[in-house]
Amino acid sequence: MTTQDIKNAKEHIASLQDNREVYLNGKQVEDPTTHPAFAQAISTAASLYDFQAHPDNADLMTFKSPTSGRRVNRAWQMPTSYEELVQRRRALVTWAEQHGGFMGRSPDHLASAITGQIMGLEVFEAYDPARAKAYWDYYVYARDNDIFLTYVIINPQTDRSKAVGEQDDDTPMVKIVDEDAEGVTVRGAKMLGTSSIMANEIFVAHLQPLQPSEEDYAISFAVPMDISGLKVVSRKSYEQHAVSEFDNPMAARYDENDAIMFFDDVKVPWDRIFVHRSPDMCRAQFHETPGHIFQNYQAQIRLSVKLKFLVGLARHVAETIGTITIPSVVDTLGRMAAQACSVETMLHGMEAKGHQRGEYFVPDRHALYSAQTLTQELYPEMINTIRELAGGAVIMLPSSAEDFADPGLAKIIKQTQVSADGKSDVERVKLLKLVWDVIGSEFGGRHTQYEMFYAGAQFVVRGHSFRSYDWDGSKGLVGTILDRYDLSSSLSKGQRSAAE
Ligand SMILES: Cc1cc2nc3c(=O)[nH]c(=O)nc-3n(C[C@H](O)[C@H](O)[C@H](O)COP(=O)(O)OP(=O)(O)OC[C@H]3O[C@@H](n4cnc5c(N)ncnc54)[C@H](O)[C@@H]3O)c2cc1C
Repeated sequence: MTTQDIKNAKEHIASLQDNREVYLNGKQVEDPTTHPAFAQAISTAASLYDFQAHPDNADLMTFKSPTSGRRVNRAWQMPTSYEELVQRRRALVTWAEQHGGFMGRSPDHLASAITGQIMGLEVFEAYDPARAKAYWDYYVYARDNDIFLTYVIINPQTDRSKAVGEQDDDTPMVKIVDEDAEGVTVRGAKMLGTSSIMANEIFVAHLQPLQPSEEDYAISFAVPMDISGLKVVSRKSYEQHAVSEFDNPMAARYDENDAIMFFDDVKVPWDRIFVHRSPDMCRAQFHETPGHIFQNYQAQIRLSVKLKFLVGLARHVAETIGTITIPSVVDTLGRMAAQACSVETMLHGMEAKGHQRGEYFVPDRHALYSAQTLTQELYPEMINTIRELAGGAVIMLPSSAEDFADPGLAKIIKQTQVSADGKSDVERVKLLKLVWDVIGSEFGGRHTQYEMFYAGAQFVVRGHSFRSYDWDGSKGLVGTILDRYDLSSSLSKGQRSAAE
């Protein structure tokens, strides 16, 4: 097999050197690929492409596009059987293992979302054949070029007591402000463009429910990140504020970034518009196609790797501080291990309970929403458990790696950073600084927020679970018992006549 044509890191980084408008700290960033706020995270994301292009990994990670013949990431693959779904999952797990699950919007997330929607292309065809054709052509373009897409599908938070259409006239939500034969002009903002600084294109849609009258907001499209008028307003960069890689190992390399995406009169051509003025189709593109399933199935695959990483971190902590032999600590680690394994096993359940939807094999919807409901609570719980296990060890640390360069301080560090498992002082500090960057630093705090909210607030995710559960089966079990008795069977003959 020739692998030379598979997208690699060099190709991806070159593709980002365009005219995108990224803003940080009051200034426009000239080239995110070399900027100290973004360069390392971009390099981490790009290294995923080198990984897939490596001859040893090419078969695991890629498949041949049926249109171009080019090998592209398996996230673009539409599984036609249980076996293909599992094969596709193995590629996604392997990519997540390269970053411990900390790149939430790695390229396989959107590739999964779009591929899932395209598996339900008949929903678009029934809505509008022209929009369906535009979407299919876009999918083929995105797949054959193995592009890195991200998305914004949520409105900026603003005032949640008002519906989209009830906001003030100068509403900040993306909406249609003009249209002509060439396309549609949109204005306004969306949150929260994770990974947008390192993506090639942005997909825009409206996941939150819209009223029938809110047609101006009901649009879905995809545009290149350097389209004229698109402003990327970045949050604080944790990468830029990392003291060093030794001090902030996660922030230094894995800060995928989040940004407000502001569309300042962006003109979107018709061949990039997939939903136009249809509130109902905004919902259907996620929920009547397998789109929402595939995007969140990818997220759970990634998260299962991250939870396994957290359990490993917890065990390291217990061994280093010498609590691993305490029965209650063993109990805690056993519980964490069981929780991580449950999530991993739920992935297998989604696949085993999957079903054939026309040509394609799709994971089980309710098994997926069950995993999401559980993991939204589990992630912060596990972070809290690691805090509990670590005590002050994650704070009792040198201010920075530079303390080791001072002989007097180095001596104090050697005397105080003592481990139960034979780690040197440097090894102990290295581990505990990693732990803090995962559980307590600004980077760590953002990750807890991410895992609690990336798929919607709890009431949203639990609503999906409510709507997709087998209530007939569940209530039927109760009915089976209820049907076996009635009031009269518990009364004597005399009581029965009195009760009648
Ligand atoms: C780190 C991070 C990265 C993100 N990246 C992206 C991205 O790349 N693309 C994207 O599209 N979005 C992204 N998001 C946005 C994410 O999808 C939203 O945060 C999520 O959908 C929740 O919306 P919200 O933040 O407006 O919270 P809200 O919906 O306003 O909810 C906040 C809280 O208010 C309460 N609440 C609000 N409404 C109700 C109600 N009706 N019933 C009960 N309680 C209620 C609940 O306590 C809830 O937890 C990201 C978010 C985070 C934190």
